[in-house]
Amino acid sequence: MENLLGKLQEIYGRTFAMQEELRQYFEYFDFFEEVDFSGLSVFLEREEEIKGMSKKNVLPLFHELTSELKRIAANGCGKLKMCSLDESESKEHAFSKVYYEEALEGTEELERIKRKLPNAEYISIPHYKVVFNIKDQNYREQKKSPDLILAKQEDNFYYKGSIACQSHGHDNFYYTSLVKNCIYDCEYCYLQGMYSSGNLLCFVNLEDYFKAIEKLCENEKDVFLSISYDTDLLALENIFGYTKRWLEFGKKHKDVLIEVRTKSANMSVFKECEPSENVVFSFSVASLEQTGKMEHKTPSLDARIKAINYALERGFKVRLCFDPIIVTKYDKKEIEEIVDYVFEHVPNYRNIYDVSVGTFRISKDFLKTLRKNRSDFFMAHYPFDFDNNIASQGATGDAIEEALSEAVSKYLTEDKIYKTRY
Ligand code: SF4
Repeated sequence: MENLLGKLQEIYGRTFAMQEELRQYFEYFDFFEEVDFSGLSVFLEREEEIKGMSKKNVLPLFHELTSELKRIAANGCGKLKMCSLDESESKEHAFSKVYYEEALEGTEELERIKRKLPNAEYISIPHYKVVFNIKDQNYREQKKSPDLILAKQEDNFYYKGSIACQSHGHDNFYYTSLVKNCIYDCEYCYLQGMYSSGNLLCFVNLEDYFKAIEKLCENEKDVFLSISYDTDLLALENIFGYTKRWLEFGKKHKDVLIEVRTKSANMSVFKECEPSENVVFSFSVASLEQTGKMEHKTPSLDARIKAINYALERGFKVRLCFDPIIVTKYDKKEIEEIVDYVFEHVPNYRNIYDVSVGTFRISKDFLKTLRKNRSDFFMAHYPFDFDNNIASQGATGDAIEEALSEAVSKYLTEDKIYKTRY
């Protein structure tokens, strides 16, 4: 493969940028055992014809070549070389080191966390930024055993939802980010492109968040608020107990629809709390292959399905997210199998609140960092289409999404199925 890349770079790569673009395609192909490159022979045969041509004249031929490379990727490149799940990774989520802002000394919040994590080493710091924001941190190393940073948020209690994210038809879509980073380690996680630190930053002044959301709801109608956005809040429930407190908040504020996105199988909230009609638990479900190989440290798909069934039985609102579904090519049968597996294991599926379907997409800037921080994630190197600075699988992604939607419609009516905007 290296020889082929070298040859194509020699013939077509008239600038560094062109050579880099070709290298990026081959970076993706290199994750597969055997790629069918027969469609490239015509491009190699042009060597003599192209020799001595100006860059301007080569450019259309270069675009033809990159279109062919995209076609090879979109058709599927066969079997992936590796099983990327690293079994040696710790499944323990206890934090051995906890940094806390000195202003939190003596507060009930800090004492409560100390009781939950009695064996951790506690280190006082002037401000969270001196640990979380420092440059040149080793993100991957920190992810293996992250530290916890406790802080007080002064402002920015909520943000407007990004256009790349599912809003489920709500115009007033907001999210809170009271924990930044996640104890799970999904290869495709956009957070890897967002923060330089792999440690978890948790803001403990939840009451200030509640006040800010109350104010927001005074000014805006039908607010849709996602509270487990840059993290998985339910997975941290045993330490922070935040989901339960948001459930209480939701019961008192019916004017806001609260969403808890999760891959957790933690059932304590469903056991100990009463459901609220305006709190939706959005469970991420994907293929056994995806959950087993790309979503490190997360509960298995079957464990999540067990939690889904229990939540439904207890009357909680449950959303299923086939999003993102990481498949490299359009294969209707494969997509139907992914959807059927979940629905066949959820006997009360008629009580599912709704479903979202989508493929992998990421902002251009985050993709750059993801390629650096997670170069072992094959999909990071996919030859994406770019629209509005969002990288997506383009027409292939649309076809996959359509097939997902069609497969779900065997079980639920169309009005319960949400597609992404990319
Ligand atoms: S569960 Fe979500 S937030 Fe956590 S690592 Fe996976 S994708 Fe990222």
